[in-house]
Parts: sequence; C-alpha cells; structure tokens
Amino acid sequence: MNLRDAHQIRDAVNSGEITAKEVAAMALRRIEEANRKLGAFITCDSEKVLERSGEIDRKVKNGRLPLAGVPVAVKDNICTRNLRTTCGSRILENYVPPYNATVIERLEEAGAVIIGKANCDEFAMGSSTENSAFHPTRNPYDLDRVSGGSSGGSAVAVAAEMAPLALGSETGGSVRQPASFCNVVGLKPSYGRVSRYGLVAFASSLDCISPIARNPRDVALLLTYIAGRDRRDSTSVPLPVPDYFAEMSKPVRGMRLGIPREFFGEGLDPEVKSIIETGIRNTESLGCELVEISLPHTKYAIADYYIIAPAEASSNLARYDGVKYGFRVPDPADLQDMYRRTRSMGFGAEVKRRIMIGTYALSSGYYEAYYGRAMRVRTLIKQDYDRAFEKVDALLSPVSPTPAFRLGEKMSDPLAMYLSDIYTVTANLAGIPSLSVPCGFTKGGLPVGLQMLANQFEEGTLLRLADAYARACPVDAPPLKI
Ligand code: GLN
Repeated sequence: MNLRDAHQIRDAVNSGEITAKEVAAMALRRIEEANRKLGAFITCDSEKVLERSGEIDRKVKNGRLPLAGVPVAVKDNICTRNLRTTCGSRILENYVPPYNATVIERLEEAGAVIIGKANCDEFAMGSSTENSAFHPTRNPYDLDRVSGGSSGGSAVAVAAEMAPLALGSETGGSVRQPASFCNVVGLKPSYGRVSRYGLVAFASSLDCISPIARNPRDVALLLTYIAGRDRRDSTSVPLPVPDYFAEMSKPVRGMRLGIPREFFGEGLDPEVKSIIETGIRNTESLGCELVEISLPHTKYAIADYYIIAPAEASSNLARYDGVKYGFRVPDPADLQDMYRRTRSMGFGAEVKRRIMIGTYALSSGYYEAYYGRAMRVRTLIKQDYDRAFEKVDALLSPVSPTPAFRLGEKMSDPLAMYLSDIYTVTANLAGIPSLSVPCGFTKGGLPVGLQMLANQFEEGTLLRLADAYARACPVDAPPLKI
C-alpha cells in the first residue's frame, strides 16, 4: 500500500485489508521523513491523527465510508476545531479555532483523516509559499525551487506522497499554479460550488476551497464530498452536486476545445509553450476538435485582479486588530498604539503591501476610478468567457508562463511575482472552474501542467476531459529529490 491513490486506500480500509490507523501511521512516517526538507506542513498533531483514525476503524465495522481512512492535508487557512490554524501568519500563530469549516465537517463525516495543516503564503497572498511567516515550501523535483503558491504545502504534500488528497484555496490561481509546478492535479471549482464557511477570508468575491490529488478521479472524489449548498455560506449555490463519475464515463470524442490566442503571447517560456502545444495535439488524437478563440480583455486581468483582491483583503483583514483574537503586542500605551504595533509586528511585508494598495483603491475620491472600474473590467472578462463557451466546451492553455522558479528569484520584485498569475486569475474573476493536469517535464526536470477551463458549474466537463487526458497521456515523472 502507498499513499498515492485515495480510492485504493478507501477500498482497502473498507474491506479490512488495512486499518485506518496503519494508513495514518504510514502518512505520519512519511511526513516525519520528508517534511524537514520540504516544509509542506506547519502543524501535524500525530496523537490526534492516530486517535481519529482509530475512530474510523471502529466506524467502518458498521458500514463502509466513502473516504474511509483517507489522509487529507488541509491548507492552513481552513479552520479546524482544536487544531491551530495560522494562515501562514504571525498574527494567527497561536490561533486555535473553536469550530470546523464546513468542508472539514463534511470530510470527517465521510471518514477522512485530517493529517495536518499545510503551509501557505501569509493569508494566501503570493505565488510561491515564500510569504509564509514560518518557512517556505520547497519543490520536491528541485529543492532550490519554489513549490508555487499560495497552496504550496498542499500541492507538495500530495506530490511527495505524504497524503493522497489535499485541500487548498484559490483566490487567483493558488491551487492550479502549485499543482502545475509539482506534477499533481488541482481543480478550482466554480465560485459558490464549495462552501467558504470556515475559510479565512482573503477576497470574498473570489475565494474558493479547491481539491488537489494525483489524478482526476481522486479530485472528483474529494470534490464530491465538499461541494454543495451550505446554509452558513449564502454565496454557496443551491444546485445539486452532479455525479462526477457518471460525467467522467462519457466520451470526450467530439468535444470542441478552444485555444485562447492571448494565452500564448509574450512572456511564455518557449519550453513550456512546446510542452503545452504537445498536450493540445494530444487532445486532438483523443478525438477533440480544436478551435482558435480570443479572450480580448485578458491583457487587463493582472491589473484588474490586483485591484479587486487587495481591496477586498484590506477590508477583510481589518479584523486582526489585537482585540478579538490572535497576536496582541504586550504593554501598549493606548488603544491606537496597540492596533498600530500589533498589526505592524503581526503582518508580513506582502500582506502590508496588499492592505495599502487595497485601502488606497477604496479610499474616498479614488473608489470609482479604481475599484468601480476594476469591477466593470471584471464583467468584460466574464463576457469574453461567455462568448467563448457559446462556441466550445472547454479551453486549453498553459497554467503559468514558466516552470517553478528559484527560491528568492521574485521576492524582491512583487510585480514579477504578480505577472506569473497571468493565465490563472481570469478564471477566478469570471467565477468559472478550471484545473491543472500534468502535461510534461522540462529538460531540466521540472513539471509543467496543462490548464483546462470550462463554463460555470461545468466541473464535470473538466473532470471528464482531464480524466481522459491523464489516462491517454500519462506523464513520465523523474524521481523526487527527497
Ligand atoms: N498569487 C495570487 C495572489 O497573490 C493568488 C493567491 C491565491 O489564489 N490565493 O493574490
């Protein structure tokens, strides 16, 4: 037994071939062995994990569970009751939530075991996991390179076989990009498909809890148990959750796939481009028809996202004031001094930058010029996609213009870091589902993911295409450096 396949583990635990406790012990051993070098986890409470898996072993005696004993790594911005949830920030370093996020409740009911809290950029702001206040997460294919981010810990936990499943979150590419950098599958669902209750807010109109696994079928399994309406999140949609496995059993032959011209322009690394082009040709041999498409407002996407996301963040992060929870500076002179020094010491540089950009964009006299205009551009970006999906079933593109970059390479240049989100943020702005599926490796041994995008609530279409693709074109991965 290994920790690669959630279906296999679930079946083995249900049939009594292995116990949930044995699976958990295996995952804990692997974390113990690999985490020191990779930095994928912030918190891992082995006692709790073993206790919890023992509970599952007692439960499966009375009947099968859909995620029996399956270890799940959880990004550290998703609240877990009695288990520290830091958001990768000093300001929440000792925060222990008194409640579970809806997704955690649902996963535990299905028999999953939360194996640990995965590292991330502080408050999910970043594209490399270097903005974590604790340590960066390294790429298991090259320890000098980033894992991607902000859900780098979650992607690496799956890539380095510490857990077969992980939850990340997306506001602007934070699951697809690390999935692409680490050779795993990451799906950002449609906005509203999964409850945000218990996900620490970054930009509420964009945030999405998103599943990660080694293959599309396991992503479908995880999505099945986290998706659906939740009365505690009024933005979760009251639509039934489709049977993703039935969707995946339908043929892909005859599907029409759009290639958005704007996703292949300046800045795209030639090696990434050629790997993606091969991936696109592969879909043709699966019987799909390719159509060239234009998404003309893509050029405004980075500017648009980096107004809207910081604006919402500046408002959401106002709650970390040292009064209600989290870090508070000792011996303040007065209330103002307490606020000022708590926030100065508690937040890292990138979070402060976002709060400043966002506060400026929302300030009186500038609101219309920045936030108001950005929201109108967001509509134009959404309309580009509406038009595209009148013609095609899905779109194909790169996830990121480059493979995993070196640690430190973009840390002194925030704009360069922001620009690496160019192909991912439009899906978030439009609210549509999108995934990254392994596509190939560069000559230097770095993974490259292929991005697939579909219309709102068409996760089934995406999973069908990704599953057919992953089966027909398995990627031959070099050994991990760990
Ligand atoms: N890299 C983007 C940012 O820094 C996206 C982050 C995310 O999706 N959480 O905002």
